[in-house]
This record gives sequence, C-alpha cells and structure tokens, in this order.
Amino acid sequence: MSRADRNAPSLDPQDWDDLRAQGHRMLDDMFDNMATLRERPLWQAPTPAQRGRYRAELPRAPGALADAHAQFMADVAPNGSGNRHPGFMGWVQGGGTAVGMLAEMLAGGLDANLGGRDHMPIEVERQVVAWMAELFGFPADASGLFLTGTSTANLCAVLVARDRALGADVRHTGVRDVKVVAYASKGVHSCIVRAMDMTGLGWDRLRLIETDAQHRISLPALEAAIAADRAAGLQPFLIVGTAGSVDVGAIDDLDGLADIARREGAAFHVDGALGALGIISPQVAPRLKGIERADSLALDFHKLGQVPYDAGFLLVRDAAAHKRTFTYSEAAYLRHAERGLAGGEFWPCDYGPDLSRGFRALKVWFSLKTYGLDALGAVIGRTCDLAQALADRVAAAPELELLAPVALNIVCFAYRGGDNAAIVADLHEAGRVAPSTTTLAGRTAIRAAIVNHRTELQDIEALVEGVLALGRAQAAAREARGA
Ligand SMILES: *Cc1c(COP(=O)(O)O)cnc(C)c1O
Repeated sequence: MSRADRNAPSLDPQDWDDLRAQGHRMLDDMFDNMATLRERPLWQAPTPAQRGRYRAELPRAPGALADAHAQFMADVAPNGSGNRHPGFMGWVQGGGTAVGMLAEMLAGGLDANLGGRDHMPIEVERQVVAWMAELFGFPADASGLFLTGTSTANLCAVLVARDRALGADVRHTGVRDVKVVAYASKGVHSCIVRAMDMTGLGWDRLRLIETDAQHRISLPALEAAIAADRAAGLQPFLIVGTAGSVDVGAIDDLDGLADIARREGAAFHVDGALGALGIISPQVAPRLKGIERADSLALDFHKLGQVPYDAGFLLVRDAAAHKRTFTYSEAAYLRHAERGLAGGEFWPCDYGPDLSRGFRALKVWFSLKTYGLDALGAVIGRTCDLAQALADRVAAAPELELLAPVALNIVCFAYRGGDNAAIVADLHEAGRVAPSTTTLAGRTAIRAAIVNHRTELQDIEALVEGVLALGRAQAAAREARGA
C-alpha cells in the first residue's frame, strides 16, 4: 500500500450496510416530520441551550453519523423557519413537498455540476427551460436557467437589458455617463432597485411610477415620466412589469406595458416571482395576458410552485443577447470541445454569473412529472380562493379593516385601532398561524400571503380568530389602564 492510500482513505463508508440502515432512519424521520406538521407549533424560538450547541468547537476527530442526525432532530428540525406549516402565511414562501425532498436527495447523490459540459443533467435543465418557454408563450429557442431566486434572476435580466441598450462594449469599458432610464411601479420588489446599483446604473436611473387604486402601475403616469426623461435627453431602456406585487399581489397591465416598451424601444421584463406560475391556473392565467410579450421573465418555483428552496428561474426571449451579456471566451480552462465530456452546445455558465451550479432543475422536473400541471394549477387556484375567503371574513368583521384589494393570494388587513405589529408577533409566538406585516399608506398591515399548498379554511379561521382575540385583549388592556 502506498503512503497516499494508507494516510487518506476515501470518505466512503467502511460498511455500506450500516450507512444504508442509518440513511433509511433519516429518511423515515423526515417523512414522519412532514406528515405531522400540523401537530406541532409552526415556530418556536430556539432555546439558549440549543443556540449554544451551535457555538461549539471546530470538530477535529470523526463523530458518528447517528449522533449528528440525533442532534439535527433535537435542535434543528423542530426549530425551522415554519414555512412548511399549514398556518404559515408570512412573506411569500412555498411549503415544499416530499417529492421535492426526494429529488433533492437524488440530485445530491448524483452531485452533478451544471456549469456546463455534455451530460444528462444539463438536458434535464434544458427540458424545464423548453417547458417554461412553451408555458409562457416564448419562442422555442428562448434561453433560460435556474438561479438562487428571483432576486438574482431580476439582476441578470437588468444586465441583459443594460447591455442591449449600451452595447456589448459596456462589458469592456464599464458603465459611464449613464443616459438610460428604467421604469417600474412603486410596488416593485426591492431587488429591482438593488439590481440598478449592482449593474452600475444607479438608483437615480430608476423611476418608481405611481400606482392606481388596484396597486397596478399607472400607464398615464409612466408615459408622462418617459416623456419628461426624453425631453431631458435620457433614453428609456427597460420597463419592468410585476406579475404579483410582493405587498398586495397586484398584477400590472402587462399588455399595456408591452405596448409602451415596444413603442419606446425599451426592453420589457416581468418580475413573476410571485404570480407568473398562475399561468397554470385557469382562474389566474387570463390576468397574465401580455406576459408572452416579455423580453425576459423571472419567477420562483419555491413560491407557488411548492418546490423546496431554492429554485429561482430566468427565461430570456433572445438567447444570443442573453449569452452576449455573460459569456467570456478567454478562459482556456473552460474551453468547449467538439466532442467528449467538454462538448455540449449549452453551457449555463455562458448565461449567468455562476460557474459551478447544482442540479436545481431535477426537483422541478420531478414535481412537474409527478404532480402534473393540473394539480399544481389547482393548488394555485385554491390559494387565491382562500385569500378571497379571508377577505370576506375581514369584510364581515366590524373590528377588522381590509387595507388593499385582493388580486391574487395576498390579504392585507388590520385590527382597527390595534397595535397590529404586536398582534403579528404574538401570533408567531403562539405558533398556530404566522402572517407578516407591511406598511400601506403609512399604516401597519397584517399581511397574509397564502402560498402553501397545505393551508386550509381552518387555518384562515384560526388567523381571523387569533387576530380578533389579540386585538380585543389589547383594547381591554388599554381600557384597564384608563387610556
Ligand atoms: C419573492 C419575490 C422576489 C424575490 O425573490 P427571491 O426568490 O426571494 O430572491 C422578487 N419579486 C417578487 C414580486 C417577489 O415576490
């Protein structure tokens, strides 16, 4: 035996049968955990003892896999972020599925690097891209890829639009003396604002346009802003439409935006993180009309798609423009070959910021194959129905007030005269339901985003009952203090 073999055995197990038994226990534990979500609190704060165990010394010696698993089951699994629980309605988060988990396990076992080269995992990702192009009415040769989330996908889309407007030379010279302007509604997600500085264009070159009573971008206000910018010698280069705004779920008039973008020679990007997958729900799809005219579309499978984190996605109409923004052919160690493993015509590293990439596409492929579009669409339709049921309950309760129209699956409301932020924090600590908060017209709103496929009418009831009980308790306490 050579010295190399003696001193550094591989990390594979000595005994695969032991590992198999332990692995099956881990899988069973997680199935049990998922099957009993409703029986446990949605969230509980980690105890000081639990937190303390994660300020431990760096391990030098090996430990048993069973011990690490036991510690995970004791400390981590019961204290997760809560989004799988049927009562979770905070922010905008999906609930994950057992199928998604199993696909993640297979992807982890395969350990494929999807930066590029010629192998089947790339074909799976391209399959999902082709399916999405079909679903959203993009041309069959549109390009696309998985990214961490819509934040990154939006950033990439702004870069493609920037290079289209400024010319590919901007990659050599950097951005100077910016004369181009982007437009989005006031309700646009903060990641679009952040993308403006990350692309070197700057916040001053983003116009946040007034919204109408439905929280959709005002087309007359947009046209007025464009005219003012043109008069000042600036050029519109990008119009961002939102399909499901993060605050209230509003869907911009995508067709109207596409018309304006075409007329102005600007790129049209749709942030569909929240609502784009509504295209598979017969009740939502008609309201997304115009999405098929976008130059690029960002969406999240980890929200309404119910795929485990993370699974952001970008679709780009003009594959050549997409590639021009990201490809870099000077790296000798990444040379593409005519044949062999280094072959393959589509290398995702030419279309995004990442070189090494995991196999996110597999969990989406499994979800689509296993559930099918109809069932996934029905789940999305139900989230909207539940939101409507909540809006009806709010409208029927004199102590409650609806703070925004319900367009999709988000309901913003308040307990009249209550400390609504405290109500939400109390609900979190009680662990039955978890809405989040936002600010609308200067007021704190309780914001319930119904995204999880496990949420039922009983959870909507629990939210309403919880808010009413806490709001009344606050009022009684105020009265007792003589306020
Ligand atoms: C969630 C969300 C984002 C950000 O997406 P991530 O996947 O969290 O990066 C952007 N826009 C909208 C409308 C969203 O709802």
